[in-house]
Amino acid sequence: MATVPAPLRGVQKQISRTLTGALGLTEPVALRRTDPTRVDDPLTAGPVLVIGEGPGTDALAATLRGWDLDVRRHAAEDGPAEQRWGAVVLDLTDITEPGEESERILALAGTLRELARCARIITISRSADGVADPALAAAREAVEGLVRSLGKELRAGATANGILVADGVALESPAVTGALRFLISARSAFVDGQLLPVTGPGTAPEDWRRPLEGLVAVVTGAARGIGAQTVRTLARDGARVLGVDVPAAGQSLAAVMNEVGGVALQLDITAPEAAATILQRATSAFGGLDVLVHNAGILRDKLLANMTEQKWDSVIAVNLAAQLRITTALALELPHLVQISLASTSGIAGNRGQTNYGYSKAGVIGATRAWAPILAAGGGRANAVAPGFIETEMTASIPRAQREISRRVASLGQGGQPVDVAEAIAYLASPQAGGVNGQVLRVCGQNLVGR
Ligand code: NAD
Repeated sequence: MATVPAPLRGVQKQISRTLTGALGLTEPVALRRTDPTRVDDPLTAGPVLVIGEGPGTDALAATLRGWDLDVRRHAAEDGPAEQRWGAVVLDLTDITEPGEESERILALAGTLRELARCARIITISRSADGVADPALAAAREAVEGLVRSLGKELRAGATANGILVADGVALESPAVTGALRFLISARSAFVDGQLLPVTGPGTAPEDWRRPLEGLVAVVTGAARGIGAQTVRTLARDGARVLGVDVPAAGQSLAAVMNEVGGVALQLDITAPEAAATILQRATSAFGGLDVLVHNAGILRDKLLANMTEQKWDSVIAVNLAAQLRITTALALELPHLVQISLASTSGIAGNRGQTNYGYSKAGVIGATRAWAPILAAGGGRANAVAPGFIETEMTASIPRAQREISRRVASLGQGGQPVDVAEAIAYLASPQAGGVNGQVLRVCGQNLVGR
């Protein structure tokens, strides 16, 4: 990127400040994040309040105590005293009709002025999918409106998310525990305003602090940005990692892979032999392949009126066609494959100047949903992560004013960091996410987008 002369940088900063002031925006807070090289950060920033009277609420509280958290069951009696709440977990799984939730919601309301910086509000509720009783369906679906609205009200880096548990999946199951552990911790720093569906029980890892121990992962586009951070995060969680990137990025790729004792593979993923090369390299270096992260992607933004064949075709070839070709070939050899694909909020809500990119990323979501049952039949799964605006070299190429707007429209009032996306990928790669399949997890700070 061309360097901006110093006097112009001052003008840019001033424009940014004026924009911030004119829109009545506040300066964003520094989010509480994990160190991608360390496993022992405290899970929450303070005590945890568990609200609810359902049959599984006590088990939830016991799970959290098992992680050495200071867990309370009643705000009024056991209030956080000198410390502010690090998290509030609201169990709504036993609610059968609108009206029954009111007391618990108001108990939650009473804690909102006593939240720690970057606190977590997490609802646990049952899915409305396939529910025939209108009152029950209403009470269950209503939770989404609560979570999305609360996410927009919270301040100081706090987030609101929910776990949507399918009927038949117990609250004690590793999948619910795993989702709760991800959402309650700093690992979900930029995940906000969404419900994560859990449709199966998942599997508990032997060591919750290194859940990927014994697994082999491949990350494409590993030389920089989200891919490089994903390599570090997967390695921290115990995986052995093969990093793939184009030969032109060979030097940075080697540096990243050396950091974690991984293996570098210089390869253009659009090459017809890409799948065979990846499988051969992973097998010769590590004896197999368990997790595939389709991260490599490119932007070639143009309004559709000005689109060229080269700009359209290259984006579809890298972002979508290569993924499809590679997984189609690998799934035959590796039926247990766990796949995580990088989609984008541009593929969900659309973005001006990104018809080619939006097409490719919405296509990734379609493919993910179709791969989910195919891979599940062999013990694998497929999910997508949809980042919003993340501060990388890719987004540094977007015009400055547009970048500033992209940061500000998020409820968290800022862009995300590559590590935020990497943490979501590492969570979805883990055995405890085994009950999450065919889903799209947004890492967008609750950007102004659809589902
Ligand atoms: P980046 O441009 O910083 O890094 C992408 C990497 O992919 C580069 O190292 C590049 O060399 C590699 N790559 C590109 N084409 C390749 C090919 N044909 N074969 C092998 N490697 C190739 O991008 P990023 O911001 O880190 O984004 C990573 C992924 O996340 C992409 O799929 C992107 O679309 C997606 N995403 C990013 C954002 C964001 O805000 N940064 C938002 C939504 C989605």
